[in-house]
Amino acid sequence: GQTESRRVFHGGGATKDGHTVELLANIGDPAGAREAVAAGAKGVGLFRTEFCFLDRRTPPSLEEQVDHYSLVFTAFAGCKVVIRTLDSGADKPLPFMTFGSEENPALGVRGFRSVREAPELLDTQLQAIATAAQSCSADVWVMAPMIATVDETQEFIDACHRHGLSQAGIMMETPSSALMAEHLMAIAEFASIGTNDLTQYALAADRMLGSLAELNDPWQPAVLRLVDTAVKGARAQGRPVGVCGEAAAQPALALVLVGLGVTSLSMSARSLADVSSALGAVDMARCEQVARAALAASSAAEARARVRELVPELT
Ligand code: PEP
Ligand code: MG
Repeated sequence: GQTESRRVFHGGGATKDGHTVELLANIGDPAGAREAVAAGAKGVGLFRTEFCFLDRRTPPSLEEQVDHYSLVFTAFAGCKVVIRTLDSGADKPLPFMTFGSEENPALGVRGFRSVREAPELLDTQLQAIATAAQSCSADVWVMAPMIATVDETQEFIDACHRHGLSQAGIMMETPSSALMAEHLMAIAEFASIGTNDLTQYALAADRMLGSLAELNDPWQPAVLRLVDTAVKGARAQGRPVGVCGEAAAQPALALVLVGLGVTSLSMSARSLADVSSALGAVDMARCEQVARAALAASSAAEARARVRELVPELT
């Protein structure tokens, strides 16, 4: 048979004309961090901390958390690591962070909302992150999942600052956060758009249902319009905004996102090489052109087709 040529990732991301885009890895635990380093990743854009504790019935202690986070920060010494506070609920319930049964867990007490039920979980986790960050040289940024309002943003950023964590931001994965980005970004230092949840909530289509895959598609122009609004809001406040959902790993869609103005893309480490090479094949003007075309499309299929026409290099 034919041997597949494998692209190698050298750590950088830039368009042909030198517009840089941070390319970062999504990881879930220390083992994932080591794999990402081996694959050439030069930083982490999404550390899903809940993956360290999926099998736990009781909350992890402060010391246990410090151990896990230190291993990840050490693997990425000298690099940026965006760590996300626990995101329990719906597709990844944590037994120690589940509060009664809910009719609609995806719309329930999940992500940052768990502070209403168990504020000590956030407090302990931020303490652990601050402690681990102090003893390692990684550039640690912290963000919360499922932020929907200005009040939640303020509450989270205040909590981070109380723990001495100055680089504090939010995930934008609810339509409300994207629509309110200009206000949220007056408070948060950065944002990371989670296109997996943003798509499920924009289209009202459960991301776990394979039968709704056509709706659960980040190429849906409605999703791209929310991303556009989120980026404009962040830019108006002079804040960086990345994408850490699966959309960032699709080379053609990555060009659209860069054209919309996102400043970083985070994905599973094995996708970094392909996204990096797609970026290097086009200039920024072409990214902006494909972004305009995708935004103006009337369907996901049309958006895909328009971008394919405009970037023949990708096929
Ligand atoms: C997202 O929702 O896009 C995201 C990155 O978070 P998760 O997939 O962990 O919900
Ligand atoms: Mg999410």
